[in-house]
Amino acid sequence: MAHERKTIRKARDYRWDGVDVLPYKEDARALYRAITRQVLFTDPNLHAELRYFEIAPGGFSTLERHEHMHAVLILRGRGHCLVGTRISAVELRDLVTVPPLTWHQFRAGVDDALGFLCMVDAVRDKPQLPSPDDLAQLNEHPQVAAFLAGAMEKV
Ligand code: MN
Repeated sequence: MAHERKTIRKARDYRWDGVDVLPYKEDARALYRAITRQVLFTDPNLHAELRYFEIAPGGFSTLERHEHMHAVLILRGRGHCLVGTRISAVELRDLVTVPPLTWHQFRAGVDDALGFLCMVDAVRDKPQLPSPDDLAQLNEHPQVAAFLAGAMEKV
């Protein structure tokens, strides 16, 4: 992305002036569905980046973990998130903290998009994907298994 510093960038329907709507990830290994990414703030003088992700109804982010943290503010719609082995319903203005090396995934509702701001370190490690053993451990928790299967009405 060409770097151009603007003081004010107007928003319209969750799109911002001069901000490209990007694919969620380039990593072909990652399992995800119906999600876009906009990088709102990135600057060599900042040690953080602020991104806006939007998951279409029925979509979900990658199940992953990494050393860096996420600070998430829900801006649109509703859904559920997994943080560690805990599942929470999330809606407008909720804050979600994802600690280091903690499995996490966001899922939009069946009929609702889920949009959120996510703050991260500008320099950060690559996400790790779960091994078969990791998945087996997560699936030992019935609520987590239901969440991972996309069966939120049963949680
Ligand atoms: Mn992550």
